[in-house]
Amino acid sequence: MVKPVIAIVGRPNVGKSTIFNRIVGERISIVEDIPGVTRDRIYSSAEWLSHDFNIIDTGGIDIGDEPFLEQIRQQAEIAIREADVIIFLTNGREGVTSADEEVAKILYRAKKPVVLAVNKIDNPEMRDLIYDFYALGFGEPYPISGSHGLGLGDLLDAAAQHFPSKDENDYDDDVIKFSLIGRPNVGKSSLVNAMLGEERVIVSDIAGTTRDAIDSMVTVNGERYVIIDTAGMRKRGKVYETTEKYSVLRALRAIERSDVVLVVINAEEGIIEQDKKIAGYAHEAGRAIVVVVNKWDAVEKDEKTMKEFEEKIRAHFLFLDYAPIVFLSAKTKKRIHTLIPMINKASENHSMRVETSVLNDIVMDAVAMNPTPTDNGKRLKIYYTTQVSVKPPTFVVFVNDPELMHFSYQRFIENRIREAFGFEGTPIKIFARERK
Ligand code: GDP
Ligand code: GDP
Repeated sequence: MVKPVIAIVGRPNVGKSTIFNRIVGERISIVEDIPGVTRDRIYSSAEWLSHDFNIIDTGGIDIGDEPFLEQIRQQAEIAIREADVIIFLTNGREGVTSADEEVAKILYRAKKPVVLAVNKIDNPEMRDLIYDFYALGFGEPYPISGSHGLGLGDLLDAAAQHFPSKDENDYDDDVIKFSLIGRPNVGKSSLVNAMLGEERVIVSDIAGTTRDAIDSMVTVNGERYVIIDTAGMRKRGKVYETTEKYSVLRALRAIERSDVVLVVINAEEGIIEQDKKIAGYAHEAGRAIVVVVNKWDAVEKDEKTMKEFEEKIRAHFLFLDYAPIVFLSAKTKKRIHTLIPMINKASENHSMRVETSVLNDIVMDAVAMNPTPTDNGKRLKIYYTTQVSVKPPTFVVFVNDPELMHFSYQRFIENRIREAFGFEGTPIKIFARERK
């Protein structure tokens, strides 16, 4: 399911990051555990009452050394391109400024819905300050206060009215959607070209979604695939597309729209922090993952090199122990033909359902082998286990007290389930619930 995207746009200091953080709330994530300021975080999933969406703080996307107005213009362009709904944020205490008018001009041209918010309306007496903002031409301005958390519910309700209908951006269920994610120059576009150059691949069209013509629909051996955000891999040379924050944002958006993510690493350079962050995001998003080590032709090797490289990857990506690793070369085409079968396999496992009776036999055998933990004399009891969903496979274990299900024991059960059913290439999720 593709979540709708809201982007917050506005000139500096109107309160974009304050609002963003309010809406997102506190989230703990291995990916977002980045040293530094909150400004680092510009993209997150969020839930507000019954709404489930992603949100972008465009103010956090630095646009190099461009002049002030150019920066806001480019941030607005990014919002228009990436979001389904735009929140145009202004500052009620300062009134309408010429920079607000500049932003407005760009947003008029967009065929995306805009909701106007007037921030820093910290108390009801200040409400009258919103009237000037009708002049911006986006209808009713919503008074809010980021620092006091006021008015956000009404604002988000208004934004949610414009969310696209459920599957407007979705492809058929029987196509496998995959993306290639990695730093610039690891060889993503070369890999796509090498795959598409294979004899039996038919590129039927560039699928036009409501967003942009950015995906490629291909048919390989009669199976249909969508390569997500192929366009994002092409170099377009525009400033705002080469800024690091924006390319990370593109990658995160592509991961979300994919079933299978190919995490591409350059064999010549090894693994860097950025690779980890992106792979971690794919893992948390519950996507199937294949690690692709490209440019294997350029590495000097002996019989131990591959094994050593694999160990290094495993050590860096501890959380990805289920992901297969393939060493190949887009240049010489070595092992390129193994990619599609790996994508197929990972995708199949990602949507695999197992039989409840077999599952329970496996879990009960596991318990017999390794007794459940106790805490203060109270022992964890497992009643039964059931698979509640796919993509990724998700299991609920009904127990006497979920607090007693320690991480290590859960991990043990996960490993037994993996050994029994083989979920190579896909994360699986396990939740302990109290049996009522
Ligand atoms: P951004 O540059 O648009 O992301 O703005 P920030 O979120 O960094 O906020 C700029 C300043 O405005 C900070 O000092 C915030 O504390 C302040 N601020 C944000 N929201 C409010 C608000 O609702 N009321 C008041 N009085 N100050 C606010
Ligand atoms: P992207 O930015 O990740 O899409 O990377 P590109 O596909 O544009 O490739 C970046 C550079 O790496 C280009 O000069 C490619 O020719 C080179 N390259 C890509 N794949 C390979 C490979 O398998 N081996 C070698 N030696 N070079 C490669």
